[in-house]
Amino acid sequence: MNDEDEAMVKEHIRKYEEWEDSAEGIYSETNIVAGAVDEERLIVQVLQRIPREVRKAAMENVAFVVVANCSYVQPTPTRHAVMIVLLLGLHETIGVKLTTIAHEIAHYWLDRDNEFPGTGAGGKKAEKAADDLCESWGFGRSYNNYDLIPGGET
Ligand SMILES: [Zn+2]
Repeated sequence: MNDEDEAMVKEHIRKYEEWEDSAEGIYSETNIVAGAVDEERLIVQVLQRIPREVRKAAMENVAFVVVANCSYVQPTPTRHAVMIVLLLGLHETIGVKLTTIAHEIAHYWLDRDNEFPGTGAGGKKAEKAADDLCESWGFGRSYNNYDLIPGGET
């Protein structure tokens, strides 16, 4: 390959990676079924803000379903191992919604090596771990008091 070709290939790869990181790229490569359009944008926003490694794994393995007040949604058959169902209250602030989405992705990430993902989530320890990770990504915490969560230390 001559220098000119190599520069062209590099530029092509750079442009592709730039697209991959853009809201448009993330949206087109993520399985989102939503009864509410605005919430799709919030999922994309969260995916754009979390570490690349986590985003790629989430896009590969998670199908997102957003349920609004009442929703008629038609999920397409999915190869995704995990489904995150988001029940986002109509009166919640955008900040709370973003935190909820990031918190659920944190559960996925922390639980990713579990043979039966999702079954281990819940309980004080799991909720605090998800909140800690979520906060490290720059979002808020979902819980103020972990003692109110049933499920002991699991
Ligand atoms: Zn949780």
